[in-house]
Amino acid sequence: MPLHPRLAVLLCLAACRPSAPAPDPAGLDPVAHRYVRLALALGRHDANYVDAFYGPDSLRVAAEAESLTVGEVRAAAESLVAALGDSTPEYADSLLALRHRYLRTQLASMAARARMLAGERLTFDQEARALYDVTPPRYSDAHFDSLLARLDSILPGRQPLAVRYQRFRNRVMIPKERVDTVFKTAIAACRARTLQRLSLPDGERFALEYVTGTPWNAYNWYQGNFRSLIQVNLDFPIAVDRAVDLACHEGYPGHHVYNAALEQALVRDRGWIEFSVYPLFSPQSLIAEGSANYGIDIAFPGAERTAYERDSLFPLTGLDPKLAELNAEVRTAMEGLNYARNEVARRYLDGQMDSAGAVAAMQRYWLQAPDAAAKTLRFIDTYRSYVINYNLGRDLVARWVERAAGASAVDRWRVFGALLASPRLPGDLQ
Ligand SMILES: [Zn+2]
Repeated sequence: MPLHPRLAVLLCLAACRPSAPAPDPAGLDPVAHRYVRLALALGRHDANYVDAFYGPDSLRVAAEAESLTVGEVRAAAESLVAALGDSTPEYADSLLALRHRYLRTQLASMAARARMLAGERLTFDQEARALYDVTPPRYSDAHFDSLLARLDSILPGRQPLAVRYQRFRNRVMIPKERVDTVFKTAIAACRARTLQRLSLPDGERFALEYVTGTPWNAYNWYQGNFRSLIQVNLDFPIAVDRAVDLACHEGYPGHHVYNAALEQALVRDRGWIEFSVYPLFSPQSLIAEGSANYGIDIAFPGAERTAYERDSLFPLTGLDPKLAELNAEVRTAMEGLNYARNEVARRYLDGQMDSAGAVAAMQRYWLQAPDAAAKTLRFIDTYRSYVINYNLGRDLVARWVERAAGASAVDRWRVFGALLASPRLPGDLQ
């Protein structure tokens, strides 16, 4: 595709020189270089913006030297969006069309984040559309009440449901001295299951650390060279089923595998430098969180997860394996309630609820204990509408994979693996 004339002018002004070894028939490499520099520039104003960067250090040096203001990042990103155009040109290679759309969508989101950093206030829904390119669904309290009624029948009793739920969950907490063993066992199982279906780059590995005092429960910091640092927060006791959750989500086939697949397929094989930076507040996060959460179902489909937890993890913890089935029932009933966190976040961030009201709502609809609800609010204060990426992202990825693959586990792995190694964004999953 020939360069759009406005794009050529902008690129000249940007003084970017493509350095990727692969051919660039679409002329997108200079835009990609500029995108990386702008992301790094915005990261100088927003400590959480750049989640990972493992590209050439020269781009970081250039961004430092350029020292753009938030307003200049916004203007540059908007100019590139305009130059890329509203429609995607015809490409013989479908991945090039995805790349074109990826750059345009990520740049538009970057401009929106810059607007927010400059003080512009967006509603929860406006922010979700601007940053993540999706419109979150809305659910009424009655919807959540019906889900709570189902849980009520699974955990019958006279005490308030939140108390019954917490009491039950306390029976499946991993003793502190067993956490490391249980996590390492779960990670090994997730990796083995992933390796049966996907080939991982040689040398891929991760380091596991335990931390306290963070607003999140676990985090994957991708380092490049197919390596991750996975941190797990120990502020609160961890339920035994969180081991499979976190091992799949942060590791295999979740964030670690997604990042390694992008590095191998796009950065190394194609020379697409834009994938060496991961801006957290961007549409890519919906794919990252959505695939990490759906990865749990991919690695442990149907009843396999419950059987694995009952036969392998419960015995390691010293907990009663007979609780595994009931625990799985409770977990399934809670899945729909994950959307309650979005609703509370919306009302709180839109000013319809104060912090005390938000903590109370989190206790009522997400059945959290008061201290855990306060921590969730701290997460929402930091990451705002990002919360939609976990549940809406999971559901969009699940629908897309299952529509293409049907019920076959082998086909689901194949389609899921293709998603991880491609520049797809939320708009490509509709
Ligand atoms: Zn995640």
